[in-house]
This record gives sequence, structure tokens and C-alpha cells, in this order.
Amino acid sequence: MARVYNFSAGPAMLPEEVLKTAAIEMFDYKGSGSSVMELSHRSKDFKNIIDTAEADLREIMAIPNNYKVLFLQGGASLQFAMIPLNLLKKKADYVHTGQWTKKAIAEAKKYGTINVVASSEEDNFTCIPALDNKTFSKDADYFYIASNNTIYGTVYDHIPDTGDVPLVADASSSILSEPIDVSKFGIIFAGAQKNIGPAGVTIVIIRDDLVGKQREFTPTMLNYETHVKGASMFNTPPCYSIYMAGLVFAWIKKNGGLTAMKQRNQQKAKILYDYLETSKLFSSPVKKENRSLMNVPFITGNQELDAKFIEGAAKKGLKTLKGHRTVGGMRASIYNAMPINGVRALVSFMEEFENKL
Ligand SMILES: *Cc1c(COP(=O)(O)O)cnc(C)c1O
Repeated sequence: MARVYNFSAGPAMLPEEVLKTAAIEMFDYKGSGSSVMELSHRSKDFKNIIDTAEADLREIMAIPNNYKVLFLQGGASLQFAMIPLNLLKKKADYVHTGQWTKKAIAEAKKYGTINVVASSEEDNFTCIPALDNKTFSKDADYFYIASNNTIYGTVYDHIPDTGDVPLVADASSSILSEPIDVSKFGIIFAGAQKNIGPAGVTIVIIRDDLVGKQREFTPTMLNYETHVKGASMFNTPPCYSIYMAGLVFAWIKKNGGLTAMKQRNQQKAKILYDYLETSKLFSSPVKKENRSLMNVPFITGNQELDAKFIEGAAKKGLKTLKGHRTVGGMRASIYNAMPINGVRALVSFMEEFENKL
């Protein structure tokens, strides 16, 4: 059976090479006589897996030494609570750019004053709102953004300058897609199922000085300090997801790191956006300077046509192209593991579909 091109926003495609390695190692991980799922998390084999995964991630992202890397559970969504529980004393600034920041804001409001400094809600989240440093709270405990908005396909064209206020970024759908300057952030977090690996592990990259500032009522398991002290093994970590993430990090390293990923991602996105510019049927609802390399929504403006397109595409092995229920239309998520031929096949089908009308 041929593998399909899966344009899902998450869980998303994994590199074929990674899946093949995992298949080979499934029954007997490197002569241990066990699968990774059966290894003790305290075993030497697993210690080696998690240490190598961390070292590779540090290398490909160039994570400075004064940052900790944590492998946690609960998805990106648990970070919506962990961020305020660990950092919020009085107030924090948030930029509202869609569903995921809406959820993060609602969660944070339970613990303090949340100041929404800018929002693109009036534009149906088709852009990143203009930011004015003068409106930022000088005394905020942190400043929060979602760096790539998975549902709307928007991305920041530059990182906001928040001065001494720690910048916290939900990078679930853009992490590892291009090099970023980690030192500009206080915390970067990401659920794995988009660009890292299978669901079940959440990566948190946190600057040292932000650890140990938790509110007194913060549950032990939701305290970053617990996981820093326990080296992500205070309790049983999501071992298999960490193993798979490690294979993906090694794959990125082998394929030229984040600079090469960015080049490939730009090339892929360009094929799609260029077509959307010339098409008379399909268009991008997103403002040009905020178009994401990872998630590309597109519309025809006609629900029946959209449904017909999605159905026809699926028959050609181009799967999961339906847009998010709140946006409609289509969305092609083209993360690192989506081959360039997947994007070419999609655009060919779009042309074919348009020409037949
Ligand atoms: C997918 C996603 C989430 C939610 O991730 P979970 O791991 O399902 O909690 C949060 N933020 C962004 C930007 C996402 O893309």
C-alpha cells in the first residue's frame, strides 16, 4: 500500500525514514530484547535515549546553556495553565491571535490580571495585529504570544521586543521549522504532534531564572521546578514519544538542521502560495506578510465546491485538507515531514480541479 500525503494540522506526518527505524527497532531495541515501550525509564538504554534527544534538540535549535529542556505531558494545552501557575504574580500581557490564545487567556485569567495588548479578532484572525511597545505593561510578569497560528495560518514577521519582560511563546506549529534565536524568549513550548513526533510529549524550553517562581498553590506536577530537578523523570515520562521525538531530531540533524528545514519549507510554501496568487478559484484569506510556512488555509468561497474538492483530493491520496471548523474552506499543513512532492501533487490537483470547472 502506498502512503498518502497527510495534510493534517496534527497529529501530522512523520518522516518516512523515522517510521522505518522505529519499525525495525520495535521488537528489539538495539539488542536489549525489549521494545522501547517496555524499557524501564530508569534503564541505561532509556537514559541514553532521553539524553541524546535533549542533546540533539539543543544542537539543532542552538539552545543556550542557561535554558532547561523539559519533556512533559498534558499537551500544549496544559502549558496554558502551567505558564501562569509558574510565572504569574500579578499581571501578564497577551496578544490574541486565535483559538489557541483564546484558550490560553481564559486559563490565565483564573490566576491574575490578563491584559490583551492587541487582537486580530476583528479581522477574523487573518493577520497578526500591529503591536505598539508603548501599550505593553512595563511590570508584566511575562508577555505571551502564539508564534504560529495553526488554525488561521498566520505567523509573526518579527519577534516582539518585550525588553526585560520574559517572552513566552506557544510554538506548537512552528518549532523546528526554521532557526530561531532562543535567547529572545523566556519560555518556548510546543506539543509534539505537529513538527516533533507523536502526541504525548510536550517540549518546554525555559530560561533558568524563570524556574522556581511558582505560586504556592501550584500542584507539584505542574511546577517546572519539579521537572527540572527530576530531569523530566520525576514520574514516568512518555518514553515512547520521547524516543520518536529523538529520532525526528536526529533526522533533522542529518538533513542539514533548521537552516535546511527552512529552505525546504520556504520552497514548499512558495509552490502553494504562488499558485493561490494566480488561481481564479482558490485564494488565501491571510494577509501577505503574516502567511505561515506551516499551515496554509485556502478558500473558494463556495462550501459545496470546497466539499467536492476535499472529497476529490482524498481519492488521490491527498488527505485531511478540510479547514478548521471555525474557518471553513481548506487547510494544507505542510510541516517538515511533508515531502515537496506532496505539495506538488496538491497543486496539480488544484489546477486540475479548477480547469474542470
Ligand atoms: C495544536 C496546538 C495546541 C494544542 O495542542 P495540544 O497538544 O493538543 O494541547 C496549542 N497551541 C497551538 C498553536 C497548536 O497548534
